[in-house]
Amino acid sequence: MQDCIFCKILGGEIPSTQVYQDDYVVAIMDIRPVHLGHVLLIPRDHVEQTLDMDAPTLMHMTAAMQFVARGVVSATRADGWNLGANSGAAAGQAVFHAHWHIIPRYTGDGLKHWADEAVTHDQLTEMGGKIRAELTKEL
Ligand code: AMP
Ligand code: ZN
Repeated sequence: MQDCIFCKILGGEIPSTQVYQDDYVVAIMDIRPVHLGHVLLIPRDHVEQTLDMDAPTLMHMTAAMQFVARGVVSATRADGWNLGANSGAAAGQAVFHAHWHIIPRYTGDGLKHWADEAVTHDQLTEMGGKIRAELTKEL
C-alpha cells in the first residue's frame, strides 16, 4: 500500500534489520525498542490490524511469533517476554499495517503493567454475557 511505512520496508524501499521471513510474514528489529531485542512481526499483506488478517496469515503469524520469540529470548537472555498488538489509535497503534510486538523483559526492569479498572461482579457477569452472545451469533 502506498505511503505505508511497513509496506515500504517489506518492499525493500526503506532499510530494516530483518531477523526472519517466510511467504506470509517478516520479522524486523524495532528501531525504538522497549528493550534491545524488541522485534516486530509483520504480515506481508497490508491489513490494518489483527482483526483484519485472514486465517492462513493468522496461523502463520502465530507459528512465526513463537519461533521468533524463542530466538529473542535466547539471544537476549531475557527473563520473560511480552507479546503485544496495539490495535486502533485508541490502543496506541501508530503504524496502521498490522504487527505484533515481541518484547524481551527482565526481572525488575521497572516497566509497569496496565492499570486495572474497578468493576463489580454484576458488571463482569453482564459483559461476559454480551461477549458470549457475540461469539455464539449465527454467521
Ligand atoms: P505501534 O503502531 O504503536 O504498535 O508501534 C509501531 C512500532 O513501529 C513502534 O514501536 C516503532 O518504534 C516501530 N517503527 C516505526 N518505524 C519503524 C522502522 N522504520 N523500522 C522499525 N520499526 C519501526
Ligand atoms: Zn502496509
